[in-house]
This record gives sequence, structure tokens and C-alpha cells, in this order.
Amino acid sequence: MRWTEPVFRPPSEAESLLLPVTVGCSHNRCAFCAMYRTKKFEVLDLPGILKDIEEARAWPMLQRAFLLDGDALAAPTDLLADVLAAVRERLPWIRRVGVYGDAQSILGKGADDLARLHGLGLGIVYHGIESGSAAVLERVGKPVTRDEMAEVRRVMKASGVKHSVMALLGLGGTELTEDHAKGTAEALTAMDPDYVGLLTLMVVPGTAIALRQDRGQFELPDSWGMLLELRTILAGLEVTNARFSANHASNFLPLTGDLPADKARLLALVDRVLETHDENLLRPEWRRGL
Ligand code: SF4
Repeated sequence: MRWTEPVFRPPSEAESLLLPVTVGCSHNRCAFCAMYRTKKFEVLDLPGILKDIEEARAWPMLQRAFLLDGDALAAPTDLLADVLAAVRERLPWIRRVGVYGDAQSILGKGADDLARLHGLGLGIVYHGIESGSAAVLERVGKPVTRDEMAEVRRVMKASGVKHSVMALLGLGGTELTEDHAKGTAEALTAMDPDYVGLLTLMVVPGTAIALRQDRGQFELPDSWGMLLELRTILAGLEVTNARFSANHASNFLPLTGDLPADKARLLALVDRVLETHDENLLRPEWRRGL
């Protein structure tokens, strides 16, 4: 298997076949992200991918596949279609294929191409929006307009592919914390995804945001500030039917539930923790990780 380290995948793909289709991230400029800094974006050749698929026949226990790397949806539709068709034919036990994509790659594909890929087995696109605040997105180098977000919703719903959207608590720093939380709730509502994931920003040395932090230009909210952001997002979130997860290892208060059914319960839980202000109810710093 032609893995180029380091390899990343969404938490829910921990048991998946990680199939190299691209290397790196086509954007690779977000101020907070160091995941693909050492890699130059490249679309791998089909014969090599087919060879890896043959190799993966040795692991029939893996029932899901995840197409690497950070933005494999940016690869040409025909290539992805060939890969999905080969997975279906040679690894018939694979029940779902997932991929990372962003607004650009989702809109670049459009509903028809995505529906074609869905017909060949693409089951889910993991999409890190990070924030819904225009100011925050501009600062971190990942600008997306509200119109583009609405179009992403239309394309994803029309395609039939599940849409998992992630945002990062703390990304606006203390300065933009309110704007970040309110904007993120609005963006998530506008996208109406099937899954909502909230992670907490951990400043990685060497990133642009770490540099701003060193210069005193960026300050992370503390654990209570992060929890307030989470509350604001949850309170403002209006979705049709979504699995909500804020249980990533980076989060101070692990939460999961189904929205809208569990919204009142989750909010009450957050409010109880906020009222007590008891640090013991939060995940300690040493147990947090990426
Ligand atoms: S956050 Fe996503 S889009 Fe931005 S550089 Fe990292 S992998 Fe690429």
C-alpha cells in the first residue's frame, strides 16, 4: 500500500481500509493546519491504485474504505469513478466509501458527478468548514461565502451522498469568539448536514496561528470559553436530522446526540456544567489530544 506518512482520517474511519488516491491537500494553506505541510498535492496514477486495491483483498474484515488524502474529492471524477468501480468489484465486502472534501471540491464536482460517484459506492463526504464566520475564515485562509455554503447544501442533498461537517471551537480566538460561534451555527444550519462534528482547536507549533499566538495577536479561549462557543453553536443549530458529536479527544466536554431530538437534553447538560464551573467535570488538559 503506497501510504505517504503521516496519514490522517476521520475518527469514524478508524476501522477502514485507508486507500491512497491522492497525496496531501490541494489547498494546504489553512493557518491552523499542519497535517499535510510535508506533502505536495498529487493525484496518484490509476494502475498503482488498482494494485493497492488488489493488495487490500487480504483484509476482507475491513467493511469501509476511506480514500486518502486530505482532499481526495479534488481528484478527477473519472479517476474516482474507476477507483470506486474497482473497489466494488474487487472488494465486494466494502459497504461504504468515504472521502475528505471541501466547498471547492464539492462545488467543483457538482450534483451530477457526485450522484454518479454515489451510484458507484461513495457514501460520505467529510467536510471541515472550521467556522461559519466570514471574518474567521478570512483570517485562517479558508474563505467560503454564505452563497457557496447554500450551494454546497443543494449539491450534497441532490447527490444522495451523506454530508459530515466539522467545525473547530476556538478558531476565532478570544477576539472573534462570539462571531465564530454564531456564524458557525448559521453555516451549519444553512448546510443542514447528516453529521455535525465539533472539535477544539489545538495550536500546532510551526503553523501561522502559532506564530500569531507567539506574537500576542491570537489568544485561545479557555476551557469555559470553548464550552460557551459549543453552547452557542448548539443553541443556534437548526437541522432536519443530524448526528451531533463533540466527543473528539480535543474537546473539554464530550457530547453526542441526535438533533433535533436531543438538543434540549444536550443544552441542559452544558448549562449544568457551565453553572457549576467545576473543572473536574471537564476533560483535563493532559487527556486532550488531536
Ligand atoms: S484544514 Fe483541510 S483544507 Fe486546510 S490545509 Fe488542512 S487539510 Fe487542507
